[in-house]
Amino acid sequence: MKILTDSIEKLIKRNPNEPEFLQAAGEIMESLEPVAERHPEWVKAGIFERILEPERQIMFRVPWVDDEGKIRINRGFRVQFNSAIGPYKGGLRLHPSVNLSIMKFLGFEQTLKNSLTGLPIGGAKGGSDFDPKGKSDYEVMRFCQSFITELYRHIGEDCDVPAGDIGVGTREIGYMFGQYKRIQNTFSGVLTGKGLAWGGSHVRTEATGYGICYFAEEMLRENNKSCKDATVVISGSGNVAIYAAEKVTQLGGRVVALSDSNGYIYDPDGVKLDTVKRIKEVERKRIREYVNECCGSEYTEGCSGIWDIPCDIALPCATQNEIDGLAAHKLVSNRCYAVAEGANMPCTPDAIEIFQRNGVLYGPSKAVNAGGVATSALEMTQNSMRMSWTFEEVDARLKSIMKNIYKNCSRAAAEYNMKGNLMAGANIAGFMKVAEAMYAQGIV
Ligand code: NDP
Repeated sequence: MKILTDSIEKLIKRNPNEPEFLQAAGEIMESLEPVAERHPEWVKAGIFERILEPERQIMFRVPWVDDEGKIRINRGFRVQFNSAIGPYKGGLRLHPSVNLSIMKFLGFEQTLKNSLTGLPIGGAKGGSDFDPKGKSDYEVMRFCQSFITELYRHIGEDCDVPAGDIGVGTREIGYMFGQYKRIQNTFSGVLTGKGLAWGGSHVRTEATGYGICYFAEEMLRENNKSCKDATVVISGSGNVAIYAAEKVTQLGGRVVALSDSNGYIYDPDGVKLDTVKRIKEVERKRIREYVNECCGSEYTEGCSGIWDIPCDIALPCATQNEIDGLAAHKLVSNRCYAVAEGANMPCTPDAIEIFQRNGVLYGPSKAVNAGGVATSALEMTQNSMRMSWTFEEVDARLKSIMKNIYKNCSRAAAEYNMKGNLMAGANIAGFMKVAEAMYAQGIV
C-alpha cells in the first residue's frame, strides 16, 4: 500500500461534494508519494494531511441593491489555505460557478504555486457567485462594497492580500480598495492589481500572460523549439489570454484563435490584438464582435471546437477542465507539440495523460501561470517600500522568476526519477518549501 493512500481516502470521505478540490488534491498527492517515502518525519508529523485542510474558510452573505431597486443576495468566500511561508495571497473570482469546492481547489493550488515563485507568500482564494456580466458599473460597485464590508475584517497587508481573478480586474479591485480604505482609514497594500496611480505595479496587468510565455519559451528552448513562427491557439479572451497573445506575437508566433464562454473566433492571418483589446477591455462586449471588423475571420458558437484548430502550441487560458480527453486527442492528431496551462487546471487528468503519453510538452498551471501572483508579490514589496519600479525592472524580475520556476520544476522531477514530468516537478518543488516551514513551526 502506498504511504499516502490513507490520507487520500480520508480526504474523499470528508469532502464528498467537492469534485474540483478532490481532483486537484488527488493529483498532487499522487505525485508527492515519492516525497513521503523520503521524508518519514513529515509523514509522522501529519504534514500531508494537514496541508490538505485549509487553515480557515470564511463564507458570508453579500446583499446589494440592483439598479431597479431590487435586493440581491450572493454568497462570498475566502479560503485561507496555508500561511506557513507568508501572508495568505490569492485571487478573488466573480463568476456564477463559484462554490466552496472551486475555492478550495484554487486555494490549495495557490499554496504550492506561491511557494514555487520563491517569494514569501502563503495561499488563499476567494470570490463570489456574483455574475458581473451585464451589470452596470454602479451595480458592480455596490456589490464590491458590500463584499468588502464583510471581508475587510479578515484581510490585511500582513495577513491576507487578495488580488484579481476571473471577473475581477482593476475596476473591481478599485471599488474594493476604496471601500477597505474608507472602513479602515488606512492606505495600505491590502489588495494587489491596483491602478498605477494608487499603488499598483507596472506589468501586473500583463504579468500572467507574459509569464506563461516566458515559461513556455524556456520549456521549448530545452527541447530545441521556440514560439517563433509557431501557430498558437489560445482559449479565453480575458486578462490572461490577451496578454499571452500579446507576448506570443512579440516572440514571433501567430495567434489564430481566441474564445469566450459563448464561442470562439478563428483568424488564419493572426488575430488583431488592438481590436480584441478594444472589444473586451474597453467596450466589454463578446468576442463574436471581432468578425464584424476583421474580414477573413470566422466565429463559431460553443467553446470546445477551438481545440480542433490545428496548432503547434495550445495555451488554455479560460477556465478549469476545458481540455478533456477528446480535445487532447485532437490536439495530438493535429501535431500540437506543446501545451502550457494559463488557466488553473484547464486540462482534465485524461488529457494530461494523453499529452504525456504522446510526448507533447506539458506545462502545469501552478508553474506556468505563477507570473501573476509573483508580480503581485512584487507589488506588495513596492508598497511596503513606498516605491515604484519601472516597467522594465518589473518585467526583468518576472522573466527571471519564470525561468527559475521552470528550472526548479525540471530539477525536482529529475531528482525524483521523473525527468521531464513538469507536473510532478511543480508539485514536489512547491510542496517542499511549505512542508519544511510547517514542520519547523510545530503542530499548528
Ligand atoms: P477573465 O475574467 O479576465 O477572463 C476569463 C476568460 O475565460 C473570459 O474570456 C471568459 O469568457 C472565459 N471563461 C470564463 N469561464 C468560462 C467557462 N466556464 N467556459 C468558457 N470560457 C470561460 O479571467 P482571467 O483571464 O483573469 O483568468 C483566466 C484563467 O486564468 C482562470 O482560470 C484564472 O484562475 C487563471 N489565472 C488568472 C490570473 C490573473 O492574473 N488574472 C493568475 C493566475 C491564473 P466570458 O467573458 O464569456 O466569461
